[in-house]
Amino acid sequence: MSVLKVIQQMSLGMVTWNVKLEVFQKTLQEQVVLVNNNVVIHMRMRLEEYNLVTNFLILSGTQMILTTTDSDEEENDKESYGSFPTFSMPKSMDQYKWEVGTYFTEKKEFIEIIRTYALANGKNLIFDRNDKNKVTVKCAGAKGKCNWYAYCAYMSAMKSWQLRKIIDEHSCSRDFNVKLVNAKWLSKKMEKTVRENPHMKVMDFRDKVSRKWNVCISRNMAFRAKVIARDDVDGSFTEQYRRIYNYAHELLRGNPSSIVKVKVKNIDGEVIFSRFYACLKACKDSFVACRPIIGVDGFFLKGKYGGELLTTVGRDDNDQSLPIAFVVAKVENKDSWRWFLELLIDNLGGDAVGASCTFISDQQKGLLQAIQELLPGVDKRYCV
Ligand SMILES: [Zn+2]
Repeated sequence: MSVLKVIQQMSLGMVTWNVKLEVFQKTLQEQVVLVNNNVVIHMRMRLEEYNLVTNFLILSGTQMILTTTDSDEEENDKESYGSFPTFSMPKSMDQYKWEVGTYFTEKKEFIEIIRTYALANGKNLIFDRNDKNKVTVKCAGAKGKCNWYAYCAYMSAMKSWQLRKIIDEHSCSRDFNVKLVNAKWLSKKMEKTVRENPHMKVMDFRDKVSRKWNVCISRNMAFRAKVIARDDVDGSFTEQYRRIYNYAHELLRGNPSSIVKVKVKNIDGEVIFSRFYACLKACKDSFVACRPIIGVDGFFLKGKYGGELLTTVGRDDNDQSLPIAFVVAKVENKDSWRWFLELLIDNLGGDAVGASCTFISDQQKGLLQAIQELLPGVDKRYCV
């Protein structure tokens, strides 16, 4: 579209344009950036045209953003006028339209978004420049002929990053080899998968990545990403066990009168986690209104340290499940069930209450013996 055509449209009131004028000081060339419904047009123009546009814009009261930029958009980056949106992540970055002026809270966020965008659209973007104040991104698609370009800079007055320039048009086709994907980034994106399935095979990991984002990654990268994700997941497990006392205190702070127990073993001066029990007051109080039935079950925990989660649930008047208490133990056996049930019966009001309940179970290892020992003759039912 020619400059005159644009002016004509503007003067006829056909299109509302937000206009950003850029002056290339060194080359004394002017450029107009016209933004309309996320369509961005960059135009170099002759001085007469530039003056014409400027005058028209001033007269028509169009929102105008005047910026001064030097020939390679580096120095003298003056702040913009006007208000611009702050980036918010859409459901999908597929076909995302970039908007000049958009703010990003930090550089890391912008870079992350560029990666997500590159992957969602299969675009081989590369960071051309990436330093303290500026990031420029190019598209290496169409054998380097694609014009797509983004320039984001730190705006000290706003204390945030702003998309200063965007040429949001690709002439390239979808690329399955997106270089911005690296092992570190992938490991973060795949952490949940690895947490749930720590023994996943490298090939399955790779298949999952290619199905999810439609990109190819090397076996080597899949391997490295999996290792990083595993380390992060394991590290977070270790950290979580290390802070189990904090967790217990937090549960008690948020739920006064609840019962929380942490059992540890002391081996050669080292404190080792053994069991964890929690019965929140609200759950305990609600059990009074439930039928005198207690469902008991155990599950394997995934993750580095494994272990088992033992639970008890009640049934309320609306036939809804009510968690009563739970235990995390290393293994499910008579000893761990006994420890759990002893605490539970005590919390619910003692042997008399316990004996009046019916216990439903799947005949877990050691459970029946534990119940028999604690509450001889109590009603027991089995799940089918
Ligand atoms: Zn492109």
